[in-house]
Amino acid sequence: MEQSDVLIVGAGPTGLVLALWLTKAGVKVRIIDKTAGPGTTSRALAVQARTLELYRQLDLTDAVVARGHRVPAANFWIGGERKARISLDGIGKGATPYPFLHIFPQDEHEKLLIERLEALGVSVERRTELVSFAEKEGGITAQIDLKFLVDHASSPNQLVTVKGRLLLTRKPSGGWQIFGYHLSRSAVAAKGASR
Ligand SMILES: Cc1cc2nc3c(=O)[nH]c(=O)nc-3n(C[C@H](O)[C@H](O)[C@H](O)COP(=O)(O)OP(=O)(O)OC[C@H]3O[C@@H](n4cnc5c(N)ncnc54)[C@H](O)[C@@H]3O)c2cc1C
Repeated sequence: MEQSDVLIVGAGPTGLVLALWLTKAGVKVRIIDKTAGPGTTSRALAVQARTLELYRQLDLTDAVVARGHRVPAANFWIGGERKARISLDGIGKGATPYPFLHIFPQDEHEKLLIERLEALGVSVERRTELVSFAEKEGGITAQIDLKFLVDHASSPNQLVTVKGRLLLTRKPSGGWQIFGYHLSRSAVAAKGASR
């Protein structure tokens, strides 16, 4: 198994942008996701001006602006008749270099982030799931299991165990959220594992 400084669990927008940022900062990352492929539904549509500002540091803003579209106004319809129109022209003018409402569907957005990450030599490892971790004495030392779901009939499941240090962040609501993982390189594959 390849060694990395940080393991990112989840290739949604948060994980993908984190991977881009860390890679750009020279940190070697692995990024895993339990799904077979990226999202195919639009979900989050609007990209905030502040996101576009931050994306300049990743050279992403121009592509996000070019691939999405601006919303000049919102129309409100009742019974097939337009009842109101609110202009959104110049929204945020003077407060941001991007004074408009920008629409870029999440599935397309994720594709762009994946493209950029791949251009930097990092691919999302799919069908790979973090299935457990445990806090041990001393705080953040933990063992995690990564479950690889393999399609081949001869090897339906593989369980790979990796030891290392988890990077955890406290959630505002309490509890821990996995932020990343320092791999110390130790993997065991068990063919035909039951989970
Ligand atoms: C139907 C729908 C409509 C939405 N509409 C809007 C909207 O209009 N506007 C808006 O702002 N937001 C919307 N959202 C919310 C938006 O999609 C989320 O805010 C956004 O996806 C969060 O990104 P994320 O990267 O934090 O998490 P996610 O996109 O949830 O990504 C997390 C990833 O982690 C993976 N994962 C989870 N656990 C593991 C594990 N143990 N091991 C490996 N991989 C794991 C998951 O497979 C997933 O790919 C909508 C969401 C849904 C479902």
